[in-house]
Amino acid sequence: MPIRRLDNATIGHIAAGEVIERPVSVVKELVENALDAGAHRITVSLREGGFAEIEVSDDGSGIAPEELPLALERHATSKLVDAVDLLGVRTLGFRGEGLASIAAVAQVRIASRRAGDELAACVEAFEERIGALTLAPGSVGTRVVARDLFRHAPVRREYLRSPQAEATRVASFLATLALGYPDVAFILRIDGVERLNLPPAREPVDRLAHVFGREAYERMLPIAPLDTAMHGTVRGFLSRPGHERGDRRAQVLFVNGRLARGQMLAGAWSGGYAGFSLVGRHPFGVLLLDIPPDHVDPNVHPTKSEVRLRYAAQVNDAVRRVIVTTLHRDATARLEDTLSPGFFAEREHVPRLNPQASNASEVSTPWSSDSPSWQASRRTASTPSPAHERLDFAEEAAPAASLRVLTQLDRAFLLATDGRGILLVDQHAAHERIAYEEIAAAAQRDEMPLIQPLFVPELIELDAVQAARLEPTLEALQAIGVEIAWFGERVVRVTALPAIFAERRFDVRGYLADLDDETPGLDARHHVWATMACHSVVRAGETMALPEMQQLIDRLATCANPMHCPHGRPTMARLDAPQIARLFRRT
Ligand code: ADP
Ligand code: MG
Repeated sequence: MPIRRLDNATIGHIAAGEVIERPVSVVKELVENALDAGAHRITVSLREGGFAEIEVSDDGSGIAPEELPLALERHATSKLVDAVDLLGVRTLGFRGEGLASIAAVAQVRIASRRAGDELAACVEAFEERIGALTLAPGSVGTRVVARDLFRHAPVRREYLRSPQAEATRVASFLATLALGYPDVAFILRIDGVERLNLPPAREPVDRLAHVFGREAYERMLPIAPLDTAMHGTVRGFLSRPGHERGDRRAQVLFVNGRLARGQMLAGAWSGGYAGFSLVGRHPFGVLLLDIPPDHVDPNVHPTKSEVRLRYAAQVNDAVRRVIVTTLHRDATARLEDTLSPGFFAEREHVPRLNPQASNASEVSTPWSSDSPSWQASRRTASTPSPAHERLDFAEEAAPAASLRVLTQLDRAFLLATDGRGILLVDQHAAHERIAYEEIAAAAQRDEMPLIQPLFVPELIELDAVQAARLEPTLEALQAIGVEIAWFGERVVRVTALPAIFAERRFDVRGYLADLDDETPGLDARHHVWATMACHSVVRAGETMALPEMQQLIDRLATCANPMHCPHGRPTMARLDAPQIARLFRRT
């Protein structure tokens, strides 16, 4: 489309404001323009953190010479015709303010040449005064140079940090943005030194290392392709459970190619990782969301980094399910690797819990509806993973053997071996997982739970805080067969317990005492189930006999989510011969 001035009515609909806060804001506007122009290669150069000079050149479509001066005017754009277009924005820019805002705080020179033109058209501007058009040799594409940033706004300059800090911001912005555009090459030069060179790649894997660190990227999981109820697709990479971070900053989100900031989809992240990672720790990774343009409103904030979703709740839920599916598939592969390759073949008798029934939170999701193939993949483990390669190496050293439980360590861990490595199981975490899935399955069968009346009803006195916390969970407790009722203002009476606790007591007092640690990401029912599971199972410090230990591992293997306790702690760990060899400096 040609560049034209927007009419005042459309201008009125646009979220306006100052967009150039610091050097990285200039880079953002210019790189977004290059991407909108279909560039395959974008080079950014900074001098003195961008305060002295910022140059962005691209090999995109270029600008028609006669339109070039207009490009620098405020509210002149080729990406939008009228306010109706704001309802389905497909480009990163749309307000026609980027170049004008840069020209307001820096001296700008643009040279641009379209593929069919002989020469590049050039124009200069400063303080929104636009100079005359000249023609000069130049390559196809657009080059914008902004000099002397904030010379007339010394206060803003003063307020900003050192050139080094600003350059670092630009580097991290570019590396992050590059995750969303794997087929575009990005180059960053800082004071003449090349600091980033990202060649085009079909998948962003190589770029993950730049953003999340080499160590982290080697352990990231590609998102499992999944049809969701959502219109659109989700792609991306997720951190592996157990590798969470202290904050949410490394949760990168693109919505239709736009880098979205803030807490958007935070619920999908924490909900998806509930039961896979520890409470209070944050997973990381990149989600690339592509949804119909009219489901997104980027016209919320002047910097366009905030977007509003029309079906936010549905999108959140769909993304959460995609995350859960990916983590489950990974857990399935890890289960095989951890237990021993032959484990399931040798134990045809080991009954499998139906994941549909046992993973209550996922009953209506695509994941549980395709459980047959999910189970099949558990048996064959056809996808080669680094762990499998490791096992192949071990195969030369020792033949596969059955998994044998050897002993209990410190009355807390079980030690088993298959002749190739050793398996450690946290007895409490493992039992908690099994109990949790049993409780959840029973609660979901929608029939009266089997109960076991107590010979002597238990009267428990609560303090005010405990009483207040118990109240909202009473119904969930009763639903799974805990007969519990108020017996005075701060006293509850327990008359029966679920029969599934037959061989173990349920520690009602312990349950009440634990109610204070909220488990975000788990809803009230899951919280009740997880807390009950925790208080009904083998604790660390209890002796177990060999057959009991064997049974514990067998039952754990049938769980829908066997690798983690309901609170996200790992249940099992494996040390293979090569890792052991490393302990002895043999590699
Ligand atoms: P917006 O991006 O919102 O349209 P800008 O002020 O950033 O507003 O740019 C104005 C216009 O200049 C764009 O609509 C586009 O037509 C043109 N333009 C800017 N940068 C480039 C570029 N790198 N390549 C091609 N055209 C560009
Ligand atoms: Mg723009």
